[in-house]
Amino acid sequence: MQTIARDKDAMGSAIADFQKTGKAGTLRVLSSMFDEDQIPVGYLFRTLGEMPPLEQKAMAMAQGKILDVGAGAGCHALALQEQGKEVKAIDISELSCEAMQERGVKLVQCIDFFDPRLAERFDTILLLMNGTGIAGKLSRLPELLKRTKELLNPGGQVLLDSSDLKYLYENEDGTFDINPLDAYYGEVDYQMVYRKVKGEPFDWLYVDPKTLQLVAEANGMNCELVAEGEHYDYLARLSVK
Ligand code: SAH
Repeated sequence: MQTIARDKDAMGSAIADFQKTGKAGTLRVLSSMFDEDQIPVGYLFRTLGEMPPLEQKAMAMAQGKILDVGAGAGCHALALQEQGKEVKAIDISELSCEAMQERGVKLVQCIDFFDPRLAERFDTILLLMNGTGIAGKLSRLPELLKRTKELLNPGGQVLLDSSDLKYLYENEDGTFDINPLDAYYGEVDYQMVYRKVKGEPFDWLYVDPKTLQLVAEANGMNCELVAEGEHYDYLARLSVK
């Protein structure tokens, strides 16, 4: 994937605006599968106290040398730094990386998580705000997990959150309109638009905890469900067997 060209970086542009002016326009999220949605840009700047409980739990569990993957505006990296923890933030958005630097994140690198030039090892790898998203498709989840294994110190952990999207397919009688022969129901596509900046469409994977556990096991990792949120979301902790 490499990095995102600035003129195609809708979320990065929104983050840059909010960082400079304290406000931003509408960050629109289009999908071929859902109605148009929006991301409140201020949410990407949330403080520890404003984070959902699952993220607060991840902040408390993160230890040692920490890697924040897809760090966005750097909210988690900043919260961890304030706790005196050592954290490196990476993102493929140059605009987001610049905003993180301006906000005081000490270690920032604009690099794709899958780029082999990222070769340090970490004790905790954070994949937050649907961290499985960057796998894109379920078929690429093993590659994401293998990549975390390469970058973990012995005894290290991956903390990730995701959601079980089955609720989108729930019928009135409580059954689910999901055909196992169709593409996995957590595979979605998005395209972000901010003012005149239109991003490229991209695949984004949500994964249910059971499937995550199966894929983790098959790839030599333990996966424990740490906590469940209020809306089919959960925090998982993975470690190498
Ligand atoms: N973790 C932040 C932002 C989540 S949005 C938060 O919770 O607020 C997802 C972020 O992941 C975006 O900033 C996007 O640019 C970044 N991203 C997507 N694919 C990536 C990849 N392969 N490597 C690194 N960052 C990636």
